[in-house]
Amino acid sequence: MAKKKAIPYTKCSICSRLADVESAFQKYGWEEDNTYLPAAAGKLMLVKDFKPYSSRKLQLQQCPQCKTYYLYETDYEFLVNGSEDEEYLRRLSEEEAAEYLAK
Ligand SMILES: [Zn+2]
Repeated sequence: MAKKKAIPYTKCSICSRLADVESAFQKYGWEEDNTYLPAAAGKLMLVKDFKPYSSRKLQLQQCPQCKTYYLYETDYEFLVNGSEDEEYLRRLSEEEAAEYLAK
C-alpha cells in the first residue's frame, strides 16, 4: 500500500484514544460488570463486513482521520443465566490490513 498517511495514529484524535487491542464484555442480567469499547471506537468506518449474516461479526474498519485499519470481532455465547457478548478491536499494521482487503 503506497498511500501515505495524513497523520500518524498516535496524533490522531480518534486513534490516540484506542489501545492496540481493545476488548469489551457484556453479559445480560449482570450489567454492573459490563465493559464497553471506548467511544472513539464508534467513530471508525466500516470498510468490509466478512460475516454480514452472522451474529458473530468480523469487520475491517478504518479511521476516517488517519486511515488506520482495525479488525473488529464479536463473539456471542448463549447461556441460560444470561447471554454473553464479547467485542474485540485490534489495530492492524498496513501489511495485515492489505491481507484483509485482498480477501
Ligand atoms: Zn485515526
